[in-house]
Amino acid sequence: MPFYDLKCKNCGEEFNIMAKMSERDNKQIKCVKCGSNELETLFKSINIIQSKKNNSQDCPNIHKCNGCCGH
Ligand SMILES: [Zn+2]
Repeated sequence: MPFYDLKCKNCGEEFNIMAKMSERDNKQIKCVKCGSNELETLFKSINIIQSKKNNSQDCPNIHKCNGCCGH
C-alpha cells in the first residue's frame, strides 16, 4: 500500500498515512485529529524521492535498488 501525506482541509492537520488507493479515492481516510474526510494530498514523500535521485549514493541499498527506493 502506498503512503500518503495528507492535509486536512478542515483543521489543517498534516499527517502521513498508509492506505489503499481506493480508500483515498473514496474518501475513506479520515483526519487523525478531527475525523474530517476532506483531505488534500501533499505528495511530500514523492518530492523527497525525486530530489534524492541525483544523490543516490546516500542509499544504503544502492547495489540492490539502483537508487530508486528513495533512501
Ligand atoms: Zn482535521
